[in-house]
Amino acid sequence: MGALHFDQQGWLISGARRSPSPHWDARPVHAEIALAVIHNISLPAGCFEGSAVEELFLGRLNCEQHPSFSELAGLRVSAHFFVRRSGEIIQFVRLQDRAWHAGVSEFLGRPACNDFSIGLELEGADDVMYSDIQMQATADVLAAACSALPNLKWIAGHADIAPGRKTDPGPAFSWPEMLRLLNGRGCLLTRPYP
Ligand SMILES: [Zn+2]
Repeated sequence: MGALHFDQQGWLISGARRSPSPHWDARPVHAEIALAVIHNISLPAGCFEGSAVEELFLGRLNCEQHPSFSELAGLRVSAHFFVRRSGEIIQFVRLQDRAWHAGVSEFLGRPACNDFSIGLELEGADDVMYSDIQMQATADVLAAACSALPNLKWIAGHADIAPGRKTDPGPAFSWPEMLRLLNGRGCLLTRPYP
Protein backbone atom coordinates (compact mmCIF):
# COMPACT_ATOMS: atom_id res chain seq x y z
CA MET A 1 0.00 0.00 0.00
CA GLY A 2 1.22 3.52 -0.75
CA ALA A 3 1.47 6.18 1.91
CA LEU A 4 -1.83 7.18 3.49
CA HIS A 5 -2.91 10.77 4.05
CA PHE A 6 -5.60 12.54 6.02
CA ASP A 7 -7.79 15.34 4.71
CA GLN A 8 -8.32 18.56 6.67
CA GLN A 9 -11.33 17.04 8.38
CA GLY A 10 -9.29 14.16 9.76
CA TRP A 11 -10.52 11.38 7.50
CA LEU A 12 -8.17 9.16 5.51
CA ILE A 13 -8.37 10.28 1.90
CA SER A 14 -7.97 6.80 0.40
CA GLY A 15 -6.91 3.35 1.45
CA ALA A 16 -9.63 3.13 4.06
CA ARG A 17 -13.36 2.69 4.21
CA ARG A 18 -15.26 5.41 6.04
CA SER A 19 -17.97 4.20 8.39
CA PRO A 20 -18.94 7.16 10.59
CA SER A 21 -19.89 6.14 14.12
CA PRO A 22 -22.34 8.06 16.29
CA HIS A 23 -20.13 7.18 19.28
CA TRP A 24 -17.86 10.21 19.66
CA ASP A 25 -17.84 13.69 21.08
CA ALA A 26 -15.59 16.72 21.09
CA ARG A 27 -12.22 16.62 22.79
CA PRO A 28 -11.60 19.09 25.61
CA VAL A 29 -10.61 22.52 24.31
CA HIS A 30 -6.87 22.71 23.62
CA ALA A 31 -6.42 18.94 23.98
CA GLU A 32 -3.27 17.92 22.13
CA ILE A 33 -3.37 14.49 20.57
CA ALA A 34 -0.23 12.91 21.98
CA LEU A 35 -0.92 9.17 22.19
CA ALA A 36 -1.90 6.27 19.94
CA VAL A 37 -3.56 3.36 21.76
CA ILE A 38 -3.42 -0.16 20.30
CA HIS A 39 -6.27 -2.54 21.08
CA ASN A 40 -7.61 -5.83 19.84
CA ILE A 41 -11.16 -6.97 19.42
CA SER A 42 -13.07 -9.85 17.89
CA LEU A 43 -16.76 -10.68 18.11
CA PRO A 44 -17.53 -13.33 19.07
CA ALA A 45 -14.14 -13.60 20.82
CA GLY A 46 -11.69 -15.39 18.55
CA CYS A 47 -13.94 -15.12 15.49
CA PHE A 48 -12.20 -13.16 12.75
CA GLU A 49 -14.95 -12.73 10.21
CA GLY A 50 -18.31 -11.11 9.95
CA SER A 51 -19.41 -7.57 10.67
CA ALA A 52 -20.18 -7.62 14.41
CA VAL A 53 -17.32 -5.30 15.40
CA GLU A 54 -18.33 -2.70 12.85
CA GLU A 55 -21.96 -3.01 13.96
CA LEU A 56 -20.91 -2.55 17.59
CA PHE A 57 -19.04 0.65 16.79
CA LEU A 58 -22.02 1.89 14.77
CA GLY A 59 -24.44 1.14 17.59
CA ARG A 60 -26.25 -1.39 15.42
CA LEU A 61 -25.18 -4.73 16.84
CA ASN A 62 -28.03 -7.14 17.33
CA CYS A 63 -27.16 -8.44 20.78
CA GLU A 64 -29.36 -11.51 20.33
CA GLN A 65 -27.13 -12.73 17.51
CA HIS A 66 -24.78 -14.58 19.86
CA PRO A 67 -25.00 -15.45 23.60
CA SER A 68 -21.77 -13.57 24.35
CA PHE A 69 -23.20 -10.36 22.88
CA SER A 70 -25.75 -9.93 25.71
CA GLU A 71 -23.11 -8.18 27.83
CA LEU A 72 -22.62 -5.64 25.02
CA ALA A 73 -26.21 -4.42 25.08
CA GLY A 74 -26.33 -0.66 25.46
CA LEU A 75 -22.55 -0.33 25.27
CA ARG A 76 -21.55 2.79 23.35
CA VAL A 77 -17.97 2.40 22.20
CA SER A 78 -15.89 3.21 19.16
CA ALA A 79 -12.35 3.58 17.92
CA HIS A 80 -10.90 5.82 15.29
CA PHE A 81 -9.81 2.79 13.27
CA PHE A 82 -10.45 -0.92 12.93
CA VAL A 83 -7.70 -2.80 11.10
CA ARG A 84 -8.82 -6.20 9.95
CA ARG A 85 -6.59 -9.23 9.49
CA SER A 86 -6.98 -8.80 5.73
CA GLY A 87 -5.35 -5.37 6.01
CA GLU A 88 -8.65 -3.58 5.44
CA ILE A 89 -8.82 -0.26 7.31
CA ILE A 90 -12.16 1.12 8.49
CA GLN A 91 -12.30 4.62 9.98
CA PHE A 92 -15.18 5.44 12.33
CA VAL A 93 -14.24 8.76 13.92
CA ARG A 94 -12.28 11.79 12.70
CA LEU A 95 -8.83 12.25 14.21
CA GLN A 96 -9.86 15.54 15.79
CA ASP A 97 -12.86 14.05 17.57
CA ARG A 98 -12.84 11.93 20.70
CA ALA A 99 -13.60 8.25 20.16
CA TRP A 100 -14.66 6.08 23.09
CA HIS A 101 -12.08 3.30 23.27
CA ALA A 102 -9.87 3.62 26.38
CA GLY A 103 -12.35 3.80 29.26
CA VAL A 104 -10.87 4.35 32.71
CA SER A 105 -7.20 4.79 31.91
CA GLU A 106 -4.02 6.66 32.73
CA PHE A 107 -0.94 7.47 30.69
CA LEU A 108 2.18 8.90 32.38
CA GLY A 109 0.02 10.19 35.20
CA ARG A 110 -2.64 11.67 32.94
CA PRO A 111 -6.14 10.18 33.31
CA ALA A 112 -8.90 9.90 30.70
CA CYS A 113 -6.78 8.85 27.74
CA ASN A 114 -9.62 9.27 25.24
CA ASP A 115 -9.15 13.03 25.62
CA PHE A 116 -5.68 13.04 24.11
CA SER A 117 -5.38 9.81 22.11
CA ILE A 118 -6.41 8.09 18.95
CA GLY A 119 -7.57 4.48 19.19
CA LEU A 120 -6.72 1.67 16.78
CA GLU A 121 -8.53 -1.64 17.15
CA LEU A 122 -6.83 -4.60 15.51
CA GLU A 123 -9.01 -7.55 14.64
CA GLY A 124 -7.54 -10.22 16.86
CA ALA A 125 -7.08 -11.86 20.22
CA ASP A 126 -4.31 -11.56 22.80
CA ASP A 127 -2.65 -14.88 21.98
CA VAL A 128 -3.19 -15.13 18.22
CA MET A 129 -0.46 -13.82 15.90
CA TYR A 130 -1.48 -10.69 14.04
CA SER A 131 -1.16 -10.92 10.27
CA ASP A 132 1.75 -9.25 8.47
CA ILE A 133 -0.53 -7.22 6.24
CA GLN A 134 -2.48 -6.09 9.31
CA MET A 135 0.69 -4.94 11.08
CA GLN A 136 1.72 -3.06 7.94
CA ALA A 137 -1.68 -1.42 7.54
CA THR A 138 -1.58 -0.39 11.20
CA ALA A 139 1.86 1.17 10.68
CA ASP A 140 0.56 2.95 7.56
CA VAL A 141 -2.27 4.52 9.56
CA LEU A 142 0.07 5.51 12.38
CA ALA A 143 2.60 7.04 9.98
CA ALA A 144 -0.15 9.12 8.36
CA ALA A 145 -1.40 10.16 11.80
CA CYS A 146 2.13 11.24 12.76
CA SER A 147 2.23 13.48 9.70
CA ALA A 148 -1.17 14.99 10.49
CA LEU A 149 -0.76 15.39 14.26
CA PRO A 150 2.36 17.32 15.31
CA ASN A 151 2.00 16.39 18.99
CA LEU A 152 1.60 12.65 18.46
CA LYS A 153 4.70 11.12 20.02
CA TRP A 154 3.61 8.22 22.19
CA ILE A 155 2.21 4.75 21.57
CA ALA A 156 0.84 2.31 24.14
CA GLY A 157 -1.32 -0.76 24.42
CA HIS A 158 -4.69 -0.69 26.13
CA ALA A 159 -3.17 -2.95 28.81
CA ASP A 160 -0.45 -0.33 29.44
CA ILE A 161 -2.96 2.41 30.23
CA ALA A 162 -5.56 0.23 32.00
CA PRO A 163 -3.44 -2.42 33.75
CA GLY A 164 -5.36 -5.05 35.66
CA ARG A 165 -8.49 -4.18 33.73
CA LYS A 166 -7.41 -4.75 30.13
CA THR A 167 -4.96 -7.17 28.51
CA ASP A 168 -5.07 -6.14 24.84
CA PRO A 169 -3.30 -6.14 22.43
CA GLY A 170 -1.73 -9.07 24.32
CA PRO A 171 1.49 -11.05 24.04
CA ALA A 172 0.84 -11.83 20.37
CA PHE A 173 1.42 -8.17 19.50
CA SER A 174 5.09 -7.61 18.72
CA TRP A 175 6.08 -4.12 19.87
CA PRO A 176 9.61 -4.41 18.41
CA GLU A 177 8.08 -5.31 15.05
CA MET A 178 5.60 -2.41 15.16
CA LEU A 179 8.31 0.08 16.16
CA ARG A 180 10.49 -1.24 13.33
CA LEU A 181 7.66 -0.83 10.80
CA LEU A 182 7.04 2.71 12.07
CA ASN A 183 10.72 3.55 11.89
CA GLY A 184 10.76 2.43 8.26
CA ARG A 185 8.00 4.95 7.60
CA GLY A 186 9.81 7.80 9.35
CA CYS A 187 7.38 7.72 12.27
CA LEU A 188 9.15 7.85 15.63
CA LEU A 189 6.65 6.99 18.33
CA THR A 190 7.86 5.97 21.79
CA ARG A 191 6.31 3.34 24.04
CA PRO A 192 7.40 4.25 27.58
CA TYR A 193 6.97 0.76 29.03
CA PRO A 194 9.38 -2.15 29.46
ZN1 LIG B 1 -8.90 -2.33 24.21
